[in-house]
Amino acid sequence: MAVVEFHLGETLTMRKAHPCGGTEWRVERLGADIGVRCLTCQHYLLMTRSKLEHAVKRAPK
Ligand SMILES: [Zn+2]
Repeated sequence: MAVVEFHLGETLTMRKAHPCGGTEWRVERLGADIGVRCLTCQHYLLMTRSKLEHAVKRAPK
């Protein structure tokens, strides 16, 4: 399986909506864990890379 790359400031679309109803998140921190912020309610979340890879919906290339 290909490694998914994340970039600072990138907007991600999640498969599952946040409780606030939003599905768009922005990458704010890169590292062992990746920090993302919900663009709808501004909630900040730290996720492991593998968890984030599964949560993100990627546009087909
Ligand atoms: Zn939210």
